[in-house]
Amino acid sequence: MKALSIAALLVLAAVAPARAAVNVMTATEDLADLTRQVGGERVKVESIARGYQDPHFVEAKPSFILKLAKADLLVVVGRELEIGWLPPLIQQSRNAKVQPGADGYLDASLTAKILELPTGQITRAMGDVHPLGNPHYWIDPGNGRRIAKAIADKLARVAPADAAYFSARYADFDKRLAEAEKRWDAMMAPYKGLKIVTYHRSWPNFADRFGLDVIGYVEPRPGIPPSPGHTIDLISEMKRLNVKILLVEPYFDLKTPQSIGRETGARVLVMSPSVGGEKEITDYIKLFDYDLGLLVTAIRETGAK
Ligand SMILES: [Zn+2]
Repeated sequence: MKALSIAALLVLAAVAPARAAVNVMTATEDLADLTRQVGGERVKVESIARGYQDPHFVEAKPSFILKLAKADLLVVVGRELEIGWLPPLIQQSRNAKVQPGADGYLDASLTAKILELPTGQITRAMGDVHPLGNPHYWIDPGNGRRIAKAIADKLARVAPADAAYFSARYADFDKRLAEAEKRWDAMMAPYKGLKIVTYHRSWPNFADRFGLDVIGYVEPRPGIPPSPGHTIDLISEMKRLNVKILLVEPYFDLKTPQSIGRETGARVLVMSPSVGGEKEITDYIKLFDYDLGLLVTAIRETGAK
């Protein structure tokens, strides 16, 4: 925790050491890190999903029921991202504090910028796993800031005696994130409008923030595996638009992406959308440092643009 502001240090010094930390569970490692950023030593945080897992399909280990039973606060991604694995854990925990709608339940999507919101009837028809808008919204520093603020505000309500501490930690995170954003904007400035393809629809907020143009997906629909017909169409579109970058999340099979890469000459780039997705990605700011570093190197090496 380098570069804490003076205000944050003063608040740190003023905190009595004996008070129990707020016990926080989060659905994902991104939310766990953002909680640590604003909660510091006044929180104890654990994520249920690991950053290298597909967040739609997490194995819900029963050991998490006991952990949820003792939690003061549960932070979730929402938009039905966790619908396949989290609700039974919450119910079985029998912890009234963390049930949806209770004071110790925070849906981080409620204050975030959500893309791909449905305009018509909400449906999971044909297996679409994004029925309430795109749930991968955390991969945008603007949303990281909004999530951190929502967590800091919620922590202040759960532990009012530490409200000033959480507020100072948020201010410090906001400042460090703004400094990092200047660095990332400079890295990406030459590549505005770059056309890419991604495996899953994990990157709309990321693409929007950094000026990338996602022209297609390996999956025909979110959550539906690639089909030969869709892959053939995608290859011809990538050739037509001269797309040289294909992003694949670490938990997908590389067979189809690699055959698309061979057909089109595109680089298949495995890129993690989450903290913990690679051992180097130990916090939220490092997530962007790592991913943008990989992306810029691939752009240069392939002559994409
Ligand atoms: Zn998804």
